[in-house]
Amino acid sequence: MGWRISARIADILTKGGDNQSIKREEALTLMGLELHSRETYALMETATRLSRKHYNGKGENHLHIGINVAPCPLNCTFCSLAEKAGIFTERTEFPEADIMDWARLAESQSADALNVMTTGTYSFERLLEIGRMLNKKVAIPLVANTRDIDHREAAKLLDAGFDGAYHAVRLGEGIVTPLKVEKRIRTITVLNDVGLRWMNCVEPVGPEHSKEEIVNLMFLAKDHGATYSGVMRRINFPGSPMEKYGMISELEMARMVAVSRLVMGNGPKAHCTHEPNTASLIAGANLFFPEVGASPRDGTADTAQGRGKGITACKAMQMEMGWNPDLKSNCFL
Ligand code: SF4
Repeated sequence: MGWRISARIADILTKGGDNQSIKREEALTLMGLELHSRETYALMETATRLSRKHYNGKGENHLHIGINVAPCPLNCTFCSLAEKAGIFTERTEFPEADIMDWARLAESQSADALNVMTTGTYSFERLLEIGRMLNKKVAIPLVANTRDIDHREAAKLLDAGFDGAYHAVRLGEGIVTPLKVEKRIRTITVLNDVGLRWMNCVEPVGPEHSKEEIVNLMFLAKDHGATYSGVMRRINFPGSPMEKYGMISELEMARMVAVSRLVMGNGPKAHCTHEPNTASLIAGANLFFPEVGASPRDGTADTAQGRGKGITACKAMQMEMGWNPDLKSNCFL
């Protein structure tokens, strides 16, 4: 075996490495690279070089706060909060005091944003109240992660102090979820219309998803101007109906993180991966989501007591891999 990588892959990487977004068929070619090949490592090197340069070595940490636990009647198959998962049987909200403690801790540990997540049928008015409360008391950008919304509701998020909103067309949307792809995309256009920063991730990736459907979502993120859009793998909670499919490995996810980095080109302000993993930090990712409160990947009500990684642990992983989490965030400039 020679030392060179194939000319076709070298061409795609040269183009992607110049921060010109690659084409769909090029992304599909990269998605098909053999995992333990020189080409895959060259792909990851190209993606991380791009991110190090364009994000100035900054490691981002946006704290996910799941503010309520509920048996969610929307029953997305991959979600531990789904009623059918049978894990959570009562509706509970984390007290305001807990939410404030998490937010203050995030501020003291110089997290870059708070991602405030609700389950699918949580009161929108209550989310606005929590936003107003956080906005008054902490100086960290707020990102909402909630149901589909219209222009009037998006404007209310802005008024309540939110800077952005996380919203994704999930893999298998409309098949393993009851929600419509068109409605999810409409919400994304609403966010862009009102001036909320739109945050995205290609998720939740499992071994059953085709390269085509994964790449389609990468291009959806690029075409609608996501502030960031990396890759999150599906975590099978205990007893998950998706257990029959298994899970992709962190290394497989890192390869996709690298492909999506080249697809996104020079538009986004960061590149995310979830759950936090070091492989993706040498494949173009620079953004982690430490987690507290409810999580759709956990069987524990407060994921800080379960799977969720804290801010300190996330920062430590980034520093080990040569990212500086204490620089100013690029996402809210
Ligand atoms: S992903 Fe969201 S909408 Fe779907 S079941 Fe879980 S909490 Fe409900």
